[in-house]
Amino acid sequence: MRWFDAHNHLQDSRLGNDPRGWVSAAAAAGIAGMVVNGTCEGDWPEVRRLAAQCPEVIPAFGLHPWRVSARSPRWRDALIECLDQTPRAGLGEVGLDRWILDQSLERCVELGTGPLGPAPLEVQLEVLDEQLMLASERGLPITVHCLKAWGPLMEYLRGRPRLPRGFLLHSYGGSVELVPELVRLGAHFSISGHSLHPRKALQAGVFRAIPRDRLLIETDAPDQLPPADWVSHPATETRGRPVNSPANLVRIAEGVSGLLGIPIEELAAQCEANWMGFFGLPFFGETSSRVTAPAGSAGVAEAVLPSDLGGSCSARRSERYPVPDGSR
Ligand SMILES: [Zn+2]
Repeated sequence: MRWFDAHNHLQDSRLGNDPRGWVSAAAAAGIAGMVVNGTCEGDWPEVRRLAAQCPEVIPAFGLHPWRVSARSPRWRDALIECLDQTPRAGLGEVGLDRWILDQSLERCVELGTGPLGPAPLEVQLEVLDEQLMLASERGLPITVHCLKAWGPLMEYLRGRPRLPRGFLLHSYGGSVELVPELVRLGAHFSISGHSLHPRKALQAGVFRAIPRDRLLIETDAPDQLPPADWVSHPATETRGRPVNSPANLVRIAEGVSGLLGIPIEELAAQCEANWMGFFGLPFFGETSSRVTAPAGSAGVAEAVLPSDLGGSCSARRSERYPVPDGSR
């Protein structure tokens, strides 16, 4: 079985200055690919560097809703530059967050909003719209964060043209009622280890309503540490606090397999096909193998698989990447 981490932030400075080491640890634990999401102009260069060094990494660049008020006047140009110069890149992490608006300024600053605190929802929406327009023009996969802002997000999505490649709702925390409409709008949904906390038990019913060909799993490392039983690779950040490692993904998948009642081998094959369908072509650069994307993969007719993705960050890049069964 091979696993793919649909969402993490290995460029995060809390993980120290060796993000490649975290990629290698994940590869050794069976993680064949991952999407590393930038959050602001300041961390996009590190995401680019990491993707250039590690074939397992698909980079994504985006302005996270918590970072909106700290953006510079040339943030959009900087984003375009990153997307232009990194052909495999997707857009992320972008989105809307009303939860952050209820936090104290001190807490917001700690979470990375910058000294002004979070931007109001109207400004978050403007910035989201600009980014989704860029991604639409380029046909990029998009990773969306939504926290306590489902009403505004749905209104926005209903009022705009459909996104050509669809979008991924990372660490889905919306209701079961929204799932069918989100599916029609092109959503994929990823489940994080956070959902394994007993207090999140009700969310399991929501996850079971997600069509299997739209499911992905993620760590969101270094955040969203799962409960201790589901941590296979304990890790600490630079200040000694426990953090989530991407190497926990296999253990998280075991938990998610139990939550969903899907045998682990089946879940691995499904998530792999979905990951390839959503984050596949043309984001792996030079390619040679074409497979049919999984049904319902948001308008993607076919995915081209990398000829050289595989093995760890330190592995030879010439290792052949096996073609998954895209018909699942
Ligand atoms: Zn994230």
